[in-house]
Amino acid sequence: MIDYGKVQAILNERKLDAILVSDGYNMRYISGFTGATGFLFISKASKKLFTDSRYTVAAQTQAPDFEVVIVDGARNYAALINEAIAADSVNVLGFEANNFSYARYESFKKELKVKEFVPVGNDLSLLRVKKTEEELVNLRQAEHIGDIAFNEILGHLKPGVTELEIAAKLEYIMKCNGAEKLSFETIVAAGVNGSKPHAEPGNYKIQSGDLVTMDFGCVYNGYCSDMTRTVCVGKSNAKQREIYDIVLKAQTTVIDNLKPGMKGKEYDKIARDIITEAGYGQYFGHGLGHSVGLEIHEDPRFSVAEERIIEPGTIITVEPGIYIPDFGGVRIEDMLVVTEDGCEDFAHSRKDLIEL
Ligand code: ZN
Ligand code: ZN
Repeated sequence: MIDYGKVQAILNERKLDAILVSDGYNMRYISGFTGATGFLFISKASKKLFTDSRYTVAAQTQAPDFEVVIVDGARNYAALINEAIAADSVNVLGFEANNFSYARYESFKKELKVKEFVPVGNDLSLLRVKKTEEELVNLRQAEHIGDIAFNEILGHLKPGVTELEIAAKLEYIMKCNGAEKLSFETIVAAGVNGSKPHAEPGNYKIQSGDLVTMDFGCVYNGYCSDMTRTVCVGKSNAKQREIYDIVLKAQTTVIDNLKPGMKGKEYDKIARDIITEAGYGQYFGHGLGHSVGLEIHEDPRFSVAEERIIEPGTIITVEPGIYIPDFGGVRIEDMLVVTEDGCEDFAHSRKDLIEL
């Protein structure tokens, strides 16, 4: 549960009388309600949760600080929000611009009885950047489940097995170890498929000599994990080892230098410079990493454009890669938390090139 003072501070800064929270992750973060359906209405005087009858019990038990109001046939969301607006004398109401369809905006703008209906940036999402100890426990455990899955999958990687089988096994192992669900669609990319950073696993049968990139994660108590390992089935060749070593050096150099106070783009540059100096800069197209929490991709980023300073308590992934068309690819990814004087890596799986 969060400090509501932070939401009140946003109301004050933005000169709002109340705010309508529609992003399901922000609803959960602020209220505890996991249903991701409906709205939170937070004014200076009250906290209300509007949702539908499928979630009555969940809302009442998960969000004890909020007055739960259920929509029904006669009273739709706009009518309920209007009642709250009248009760708290709200003139200026904010809404989450990043999470509002144009159609909903049009209808609310017409129906809601406020003087101003104002878009608010990602202020609420940014409250989620610095993780609490309780959140870190969940994130650590989510990544630990990934470690278990990686360790077990090594015994299943052999010639003739398809990418889809490996993906299914990773997912099965994670769920058997307490994962609620996947944090994103599992990526298993073997051989030349590894040249696509976000390849979808298919019926391709792994062959001896293939590099296999596996990018996978799960959700534990609502919190996501994310990790990638690339292994070789059979004996690796010189070029595979060359690109593996470059990616590994880029990844470990960033982690060794990770501490708060630098901009996201400066970390991206550390990895990008290593890969570029080795002659593979054109094959590292994506950003170095992203934050993770209730959502798999959160701000801040490790990207060429990220001007934000990385603060202690921020979760970040470090995931450089090299992807060569018609050859294959390598990516290595850990999820970690930035601490006061460095970082704590949540992933503990081996990173030397494993040949199976
Ligand atoms: Zn990943
Ligand atoms: Zn990632």
